[in-house]
Amino acid sequence: MFNTRVKVKDLLAAEPQSQQVTAMGWVRTFRNNQFIALNDGSTNSNLQVVVALGSHDEAFLKRITPGASLKVTGELVPSLGKGQKSELKAVSLEILGECNPEKYPLQLKNRPSLEYLREIAHLRFRTNTFGAVFRIRHTLAFAVHKFFNERGFVYLHTPIITASDAEGAGEMFRVTTLPFDNPPRNGDGTVDFREDFFGRSSNLTVSGQLEGELGAMAFSEIYTFGPTFRAENSNTARHLAEFWMIEPEMAFHDLEDNMNLAEDFIRYLIGYTMEHNREDLEFLAQRLADEEKQKPQAERSDMGLIEKLEFVVNNRFERITYTEAIDILLQSPAYKKKKFQYEVKWGIDMQSEHERYLVEKHFKKPVIVTGYPKHIKAFYMRQNDDGKTVAAMDILVPGIGEIVGGSQREERLEKLETRMEEMHIPTEEMWWYLDTRRFGAVPHAGFGLGFERMMLFVTGMTNIRDVIAFPRTPKSAEF
Ligand code: ATP
Ligand code: MG
Repeated sequence: MFNTRVKVKDLLAAEPQSQQVTAMGWVRTFRNNQFIALNDGSTNSNLQVVVALGSHDEAFLKRITPGASLKVTGELVPSLGKGQKSELKAVSLEILGECNPEKYPLQLKNRPSLEYLREIAHLRFRTNTFGAVFRIRHTLAFAVHKFFNERGFVYLHTPIITASDAEGAGEMFRVTTLPFDNPPRNGDGTVDFREDFFGRSSNLTVSGQLEGELGAMAFSEIYTFGPTFRAENSNTARHLAEFWMIEPEMAFHDLEDNMNLAEDFIRYLIGYTMEHNREDLEFLAQRLADEEKQKPQAERSDMGLIEKLEFVVNNRFERITYTEAIDILLQSPAYKKKKFQYEVKWGIDMQSEHERYLVEKHFKKPVIVTGYPKHIKAFYMRQNDDGKTVAAMDILVPGIGEIVGGSQREERLEKLETRMEEMHIPTEEMWWYLDTRRFGAVPHAGFGLGFERMMLFVTGMTNIRDVIAFPRTPKSAEF
């Protein structure tokens, strides 16, 4: 019977009164044939298991190696050593699974690099760093649902497979059952997708927004939280081919309501994590501080991880227009010294170097940029009266750049249709989307928050591959 097990986290919180308990977990270290550091993933801290000298024979003790799994029954007593309140005095020790030290690829003695740990992602959860990262990921996901549930939003599951390629958010992965070496063809040589599984060309979704809007036109407020797919061939530290996105969509909201909600949401997620994963955050903060020490003075950030998070919770985000952002860039010392690699002028799609200059050097806090030129944004964004810009908003944060992309949506049928035609988006195929503008259209707005980008921000990790369990990136889909 396994159910008598007490989690390490609970054992460490309990008052040690020589009570008999059973713990199970994996060995992190075994010192002097006496002290086992046992971890079961419930907390970053290990339970110290003390094996009385002479209580077990040498051959048995030899099999207790890092990575092996144990069942330990014993007495929870006050610890004599420093560093922990209590320890488990082992009465019976059972090895559940051995772990051959010659073959075990996770040797914690010489701090493995994050790059190496990516190659053994099936085992990296067993490190302190990834233990902390993935407990926080759980908390953040839970907080997402809690936030929206408290506000009466309906969680809508939008489809993973879609036949609409109108979003234009990124390159898509095709979904097909056609034989790729010899697909059926039309007279002109193009592939005949009428023969395909869905009778048309279909893809993995790049965003649930369009379907989300349909839900908002009935429930008033919905959100999606699911995987999205983009065949981003860019191989950056901020892009994945499979990532999770949270997309709320709200009727009766304008751009300002949208910004307020997004800002409250980000603050809430951070606040909730600080409250529930303090130990994990402190561990990651220390880790980041150690890493910063390796950097030259000029590249170090002025704030530690926890300070940064506290700062974001306690300060309003800066709000500027795109036009103001471009002016700031043009006036910047970086621009004058020709430090930017990419061109700066009104109309550009700001590059990450520009976004990061704004948040890291100029404002030193998160910034919401509104009123982007319409030609760099999607067709569904509401057109401003100037004829040049749309009611878009991106939220940029230090260390990452864009974390949220959103807008007020164009609810005026005629304007929307004209824009779609200009952008060569087939209006007939999108009949269902346009119907919402025909049947009781209302002002509405929404945004997309990249869950892994949020994870980067909260954990201080710098590569997006290290905040999702099994990253999918160009040329990489192991595990
Ligand atoms: P970027 O300019 O960084 O490529 P985007 O403009 O393509 O972002 P949106 O289409 O607005 O992004 O998507 C909404 C959010 O989804 C982004 O703000 C970001 O947080 C996240 N996101 C977008 N693409 C990716 C990706 N490939 N991997 C992880 N997160 C992503
Ligand atoms: Mg993109």
